[in-house]
Amino acid sequence: MQKEKPSFLSTTPPLVTVTRGDDPYENAFKALSALKLPPLAGKRILLKPNAGRLVPACSGITTHPSVVAAAIDFFRQLSPSEILLGESPILGVRALDALEKAGMLEIARSRGVQLVDLDEDPAFELPVPRGKLLHSLRVCGPIREVDYLVSIPVMKTHMHTVVSLSIKNMKGVLWRREKARLHQLEYPALPPGQGKALDVAIADMAEVLRPDLALIDGTIGLEGLGPSEGEPKKANLVVASLDCLAADAVAAFLMGFEPASIPHLRMAAERGLGTIDLDRMKIIPPEYRLFQQSFAPPPKKISIQYPDVIVHDCNSCSACLSTTLLFLRRYLPEVPKSLFQDGKLILGIGKDIKDPPPGIILIGNCTAAHKEAGIYIPGCPPIASSILLRLKEKADQK
Ligand code: SF4
Repeated sequence: MQKEKPSFLSTTPPLVTVTRGDDPYENAFKALSALKLPPLAGKRILLKPNAGRLVPACSGITTHPSVVAAAIDFFRQLSPSEILLGESPILGVRALDALEKAGMLEIARSRGVQLVDLDEDPAFELPVPRGKLLHSLRVCGPIREVDYLVSIPVMKTHMHTVVSLSIKNMKGVLWRREKARLHQLEYPALPPGQGKALDVAIADMAEVLRPDLALIDGTIGLEGLGPSEGEPKKANLVVASLDCLAADAVAAFLMGFEPASIPHLRMAAERGLGTIDLDRMKIIPPEYRLFQQSFAPPPKKISIQYPDVIVHDCNSCSACLSTTLLFLRRYLPEVPKSLFQDGKLILGIGKDIKDPPPGIILIGNCTAAHKEAGIYIPGCPPIASSILLRLKEKADQK
């Protein structure tokens, strides 16, 4: 990870490369080849894709295997001592299972690269001296042994952070439950649209956990209800830079978002971690603006999709939100009608629930303080099928 001084001290515009085409391997290799990398001979390189969920490859949720394959082949030319491919997935998922499902095992095997369960080694505390919300972070042990960290996220929208790109992807090197802690922090309310505690926490994380290189995979991105319930969006793009903030800003622009409208990017720039002003970057090719797409933004409320459901989402994290969405998509028709209040199923998620209405279904440990108000389903997050089981039990007891 980056150990040099913040890039606000640099007067050189960051170089960002954008490639577009039908072949993700070629796009990634070309985007990397145009960068000026430091000498990496004899160094240990960790490639950190977005592969933290048990979903098949090419679904827009995990990094395209061909992009990772190109990264391996590209870095191998630079004679590192070792290339590792690692992940710390969402809670309840085993890293190696998720990596295999995402097509990474095949890529790694064919190239003699080791897959790493980043949660395996003991974690370490990483101080965040300039943190506004975080003073230290619990980070996966293998990160300490790495000389060069490459973030390879998917171009996605995100229901809590608008987009999820190379900086946000670093949450996947936080030790197990530390990921969820970032969603549970308190911060004085910011003006509407200016962000929330999670954005401040991600900007804090960016102070100490910026990758050395960002390789953003926009082969098949995800729009709408990201990071896991959205729609795949074929964009056939790759963005690369040694400046992860600049790369994220360019990727956000290519997705159709104004970089300054993404709270965690704006906060990182305001702290002097780099620029998100596209006019202050060197972006290749100069006509990159022609590649801009229009990713559907994340909806403000889940209830729009499910008119019979009211969701009180009070600062949940994406794990509980994804579980809730999965539950609704798979099991809503099976929920006993006796649990509906005036024709509506009322759900509550997140740590900031206040005055929950009677009969509410409270999902996740964060809602435990209100368990007397309705039906409480423990778990962090609970499993979608267990929500249905518990609801059926409760309906039978009525
Ligand atoms: S209970 Fe849900 S919202 Fe709370 S930390 Fe766990 S997963 Fe996140």
